[in-house]
Amino acid sequence: MSEYRPTGIELPHVAYFCMEYGLDATLPIYSGGLGILAGDFIKAARELGRPLVAIGILWRQGYTQQHIDENGQAYDIYDDYDFSDLKDTGVTVRVRIQEQDVTCKVWLCDTYGNVPLYLLDAGYPGSPHAWMTQRLYGGGRTERIAAEIILGIGGVRALRALGFNVDVFHFNEGHAVFAGMELIREKMDRGLSFERAWHDTREEIVFTTHTPVAAGNEVHDHDILFQMGAYNGLNYDQMRFLGGDPFSMTVAGLRLSYMANGVSKLHGRTVHRMWGHLEAIPLIFSITNGVHPGTWQDPRIKEAFEKRGDLFSIHMDNKRRLIEHIRDKGLGNLREDALLIGFARRAASYKRGDLIFRNPDVIDPYLATGKIQIVFSAKAHPADTMGKEIIARLVSFQKRYPNSVVFIDNYNMDIAKLLVRGCDIWLNNPRRPQEASGTSGMKAAMNGVLNLSIEDGWVGEGVQDGINGWLLDFHPGENLSPVEQDEWDMNSLYQVLLQEVVPMYYNNRKHWVEMMMLSIDMSRWQFSSHRMCREYYDLMYTPVTNNKRQAVAQTV
Ligand SMILES: *Cc1c(COP(=O)(O)O)cnc(C)c1O
Repeated sequence: MSEYRPTGIELPHVAYFCMEYGLDATLPIYSGGLGILAGDFIKAARELGRPLVAIGILWRQGYTQQHIDENGQAYDIYDDYDFSDLKDTGVTVRVRIQEQDVTCKVWLCDTYGNVPLYLLDAGYPGSPHAWMTQRLYGGGRTERIAAEIILGIGGVRALRALGFNVDVFHFNEGHAVFAGMELIREKMDRGLSFERAWHDTREEIVFTTHTPVAAGNEVHDHDILFQMGAYNGLNYDQMRFLGGDPFSMTVAGLRLSYMANGVSKLHGRTVHRMWGHLEAIPLIFSITNGVHPGTWQDPRIKEAFEKRGDLFSIHMDNKRRLIEHIRDKGLGNLREDALLIGFARRAASYKRGDLIFRNPDVIDPYLATGKIQIVFSAKAHPADTMGKEIIARLVSFQKRYPNSVVFIDNYNMDIAKLLVRGCDIWLNNPRRPQEASGTSGMKAAMNGVLNLSIEDGWVGEGVQDGINGWLLDFHPGENLSPVEQDEWDMNSLYQVLLQEVVPMYYNNRKHWVEMMMLSIDMSRWQFSSHRMCREYYDLMYTPVTNNKRQAVAQTV
């Protein structure tokens, strides 16, 4: 799928940094949305023929495999995975962490239809530093900072060792910001002042932030950054200038970049509100996330959409596959001919997954008769006891309604694929603002699975109420206690679900299929990773390189 490009104009060469990549369920170096986004992005870049390489970490024990015991309690299992499909580049890089030299191997992953992804690894046999890249988001602060030094500083060194000529460094989320310290240090080693080195470095970095709330941004004390080696030769004043005190990874990402973006229009505005008042920050705008159709959209659905074929019978086949998977796993017996709602998210934003159960007088008859069926899936962060309690509560609903409520453990890309193809409705009902963008609803939309969602993240840009999905009229929260707000939102959910969704599903199949068509039409380009990747090139990478070329032209 390479495209027309004027000859003589070379596209910017980009190095993309991310802590996690979700390329395939068999390469478990991702935890959730951020990683899936990065994986989808580097697949799109490959299909569009874009000059991009990606930098990440080889998490030897992945994130977590999470299962449920007989009491409904989530527990975690870590395996040493087999990474024999990766290619050894023969390149190693050294970084300084806790005053020790840490040698990382660099592996190449290029087998999932992605541009080259180079993975740094401190966990090869015989390494004394294996703990640094063992489990994604698994350790405490020390492990986290060590991995961030490897990703950022080690990542730049790997690019140099591999011989890449990089025009633009893209930090996808703040984990990579120590790459900026390395780019500054390189220039200071050549004799530039800190100010000059910062100025020049800034002109080669773009930054994407993904957090919707200030509390979600990663912050570290300076003493620990210094002890770990993250200063990389800079001093306290310089580091404080970049990230503040305490050191905010997001602020540093902003101060280090020429341009920055949020991941939906709504989120772009939120980012402005959170950071717009700070000094020395770049132009902030938004590029809405997208998902990789080749990974998420059933090709038969795509074909039926294009040829106006029998969409519904393919959808029913996907629904059957999901229901069979659930049955084979011993998780329950759902019915093919009854409405099936899917709900799968991070357990953190999961707090109101049970909203639909809050008024038994209303919902009980539907669940008892199986007229409404719900399938949940999620992983909680291993240390998140509250997230695990939420999961336990969902499992308890499964016990109460064994024929209509199911919880699938160990949410991963394979389960996500089954769900976003096989449900009828995709539900998203957090309290706002919860989501920077969200992407699972895009995957659902592309498969004709209709969104029933609040207008959060990407949703307001695509979902039109009653046309290609449904919007929930949730209370903005002012003047209401959390309990009152939940009550309002619950009634709003019941209103749409019971007065509109259920009657249409059972009584007007023709209209339902029309909505499926419109949902696919709405999402197939606008929420594809290809649209997203092109926007990054057009709106961020190219302006950065043009700016640099102009600067060079002026000095010649
Ligand atoms: C798509 C996906 C996510 C992200 O979904 P959100 O809607 O953004 O929460 C998380 N985990 C997996 C396995 C996914 O496939």
